[in-house]
Amino acid sequence: MTAALALAAKGFRVVVLEKAERLEDVGAGLQLSPNASRILVELGLKDRLGSRAVTPEAVSIMSTRAGGELMRLPLGAAATERAGAPYWVVHRADLQAALAAAVADHPDVDLRLGGTFEDVAAHAKGLSVVYRSGTLRRSEVASALIGADGVWSTVRQHLFPDVQPRFSGLIAWRGTFEATQLPKEYTSRRVQLWMGPNAHLVAYPIASGRQINVVAVVPGTWNRPGWSTPGDLSEVMDAFPAARWPGPARMMLTAVDSWRKWALFTLPDGVGWSKGAIALAGDAVHAMLPFAAQGAGMAIEDAAVLAEHLSGNATESAASIAAALARYGRAREARVRRVQRTARQQGRIYHLAGPFALARDLAIRALGPERMLARQDWIYRWRA
Ligand SMILES: Cc1cc2nc3c(=O)[nH]c(=O)nc-3n(C[C@H](O)[C@H](O)[C@H](O)COP(=O)(O)OP(=O)(O)OC[C@H]3O[C@@H](n4cnc5c(N)ncnc54)[C@H](O)[C@@H]3O)c2cc1C
Repeated sequence: MTAALALAAKGFRVVVLEKAERLEDVGAGLQLSPNASRILVELGLKDRLGSRAVTPEAVSIMSTRAGGELMRLPLGAAATERAGAPYWVVHRADLQAALAAAVADHPDVDLRLGGTFEDVAAHAKGLSVVYRSGTLRRSEVASALIGADGVWSTVRQHLFPDVQPRFSGLIAWRGTFEATQLPKEYTSRRVQLWMGPNAHLVAYPIASGRQINVVAVVPGTWNRPGWSTPGDLSEVMDAFPAARWPGPARMMLTAVDSWRKWALFTLPDGVGWSKGAIALAGDAVHAMLPFAAQGAGMAIEDAAVLAEHLSGNATESAASIAAALARYGRAREARVRRVQRTARQQGRIYHLAGPFALARDLAIRALGPERMLARQDWIYRWRA
């Protein structure tokens, strides 16, 4: 939907095919750093999103080895000023609802729920995009097709059938609890990152601060695709034993009312971005580990860059569209690859144990908040 709005803002007419029949409350929290929030603000989503999004005051970096907080990185107004856009934490459903409302208001975007993309063929007039709607098979003629259909992308399958998502060996457990359930010190407007041996935990407020979103990442072998497999509290707690994990971290885990587990799949680096008049965006081309909190952020950036390149096109011939989409891929490749690498490295750092964890904690303390924040500038201060 971000890509649709960005393209419509450049004067294109966009049909969005979404296989879900209804836009539901799937997923959990998302951190939207300034590189992403800036684009959403420019698309006019500030008021729709701002009332539901929370601007955290800080990120608390916590270590089980140290037994508590190692460092507090200021966010809030300081981060907004530094990067020129807010750092938001939102429920994925709130982002989806804000985008859907903007799409509904836009005369040039046509969202077709229950429209499952199936096939595409090139011909003299452009592309015939075939999709299923209920029992009907329909077709739409288009100048270009953007596959923003997630890690299990059917569009990618069509373009690059040999590329397959790989299970990372890690499982993310996700859940929420009502902020009133725990004392204020656990539920303040902070992002808490708890690092421990072989596991980590992230918690932050969403839904105007009424709920706390919790993500616990642990190694495992369960690897079924999907976003909403129910999980069992005792299984989560096994990965966060009292012998290693301080009470406050475990307290948040037990406060969650229902857990969902999500096997983390990634795509190999260097998946092709486009072929002819068909391009990929978001997880369909660069599904990454979530440890830099940039998967959705990169998808949102893709949308802005894609619209920029397509709009700069002198003609709408198939060749010039293909050239514009190829330029879009070249413009995105190096940055996305660096973010993918950063996410992998951060995961390894979070899960260190023993003397390596001690070295990590000392290094973080030695860096200090200012230099830690400066290390994020290349991500947060990016502009399309
Ligand atoms: C534990 C965890 C925490 C995360 N935290 C963050 C974070 O803090 N910040 C951040 O930026 N990112 C985060 N991410 C990553 C983020 O969730 C994804 O990168 C993001 O959702 C990708 O967006 P997308 O639009 O590319 O794909 P998706 O969100 O997967 O959307 C794809 C859409 O395509 C539809 N679709 C699929 N196939 C078809 C078809 N054939 N026809 C029509 N429609 C179809 C699907 O129904 C879906 O609506 C996290 C991920 C995980 C697992």
